[in-house]
Amino acid sequence: MKKEISLALTVALILSLFVALALAQAPNLEIAVSLAGRPTDAQIKALQGGKVVAVGYTDVHQVGLARLRLQPGAYTLLIDHGGDFTGAILAREVTIPASGVLRLELELERLFEPNAWGYYSADTHAHTAMSPDGNTPVDQAVAVQLAADLDLVFISDHNSVKGHSLFAQTAQERGVPAILSEEITTDWGVINMGHFNAYSLSPGMLVNWRVPPAQIFREARQKGAKVVQVNHPKSGPYDYFNLMADPRWDPGFDAVEVWNGEFSLEDELAEQVLFSFWNEGKRYVAVGASDDHMWDLLDVEYGRPRTYVHLEGELTVDNWLEGLLAGRAFITYGPLIDLRANGRYIPGDTVALRAGEPITLEAKVYSVTPLARAEVLRNGEVIASITLEGLEATISFPTSPESSGWYLLRVFAQDGDRAMTNPIWVEVR
Ligand SMILES: [Zn+2]
Repeated sequence: MKKEISLALTVALILSLFVALALAQAPNLEIAVSLAGRPTDAQIKALQGGKVVAVGYTDVHQVGLARLRLQPGAYTLLIDHGGDFTGAILAREVTIPASGVLRLELELERLFEPNAWGYYSADTHAHTAMSPDGNTPVDQAVAVQLAADLDLVFISDHNSVKGHSLFAQTAQERGVPAILSEEITTDWGVINMGHFNAYSLSPGMLVNWRVPPAQIFREARQKGAKVVQVNHPKSGPYDYFNLMADPRWDPGFDAVEVWNGEFSLEDELAEQVLFSFWNEGKRYVAVGASDDHMWDLLDVEYGRPRTYVHLEGELTVDNWLEGLLAGRAFITYGPLIDLRANGRYIPGDTVALRAGEPITLEAKVYSVTPLARAEVLRNGEVIASITLEGLEATISFPTSPESSGWYLLRVFAQDGDRAMTNPIWVEVR
């Protein structure tokens, strides 16, 4: 008898605990977000006193619907799709009631359409909960990247491909191409030889991280990878370039993640190394990627920075990777760059000229926040600085190279966000 009572009590206690938990977690803010009249993925930030106190996303399976739980009170909500890159950020002042649910319906705006001029973006370093230091659910990682207005979604976990099948299946459900990768993380269990993203791997194919780089690169390619990317060079012990004078160094990679997360001294140093490769004629491709691990943290954001690739043909993983390998790409924290030379060459192309023959670099640049300036670089040196203003600008820079080399364009917005193209190569005969 006594036993039965205590059992009933325990059940009641557990039940009431569940009810309390459910109440504590029941959403009290529901936002339906659309773009051009269609439900769309979005990021929602809640601010109090100018500080971000929470971040959430629309659900990957219920497109355009976000359900959040906030403490009752007044907030500024920032809602965006591709904010800082292609979309405007919408601000709304709201008060979350002490009981009940606040429902909002919002229509977002896209300001720029890089797809219309052939450029498509991905974040080629993105972790999920399949990394021990990540918490973004594998399926929701698709919505998080779509909310950033990326055109292809990407997964790379530390020495793990466990997320591949759910990620690919979710991407397929959402109709977006998925690039499957692994962050080959060599310092886990063995001596550090750097970190590499190999992509796109055949689904579920794990690359061994306990072997020297040459073997890693070979195995990655056997398992489907077209691109081997050196991650975050110059980031202290995780820097593959530390191995440059070591017998285990192998130059058989394709891309260098010169920009990793928020721009810092490491990224500036990585640029210097890549520029010296380019000056030696080694045409590695510059990429920028977030290395984000956690969807609810704000020091890093999926899709910031990112790489835009100019496509020949339709949007497929293979076409995107082919464009990337050819260097037809720019990297950005916000501004967008459509760079051409003589009206027809784009980054990655080689222009053959006679000594002194003129060439004109022309660019259209766009930014969601006001532009500040553009710089033309030749062989790593700034040879022109051009003041810009407004959200769109056209740049024209004529020059007459006497010797072979490379040119690129770097653009800054007034808020400090930057973008940089891969080089246009000039061969003087
Ligand atoms: Zn890493």
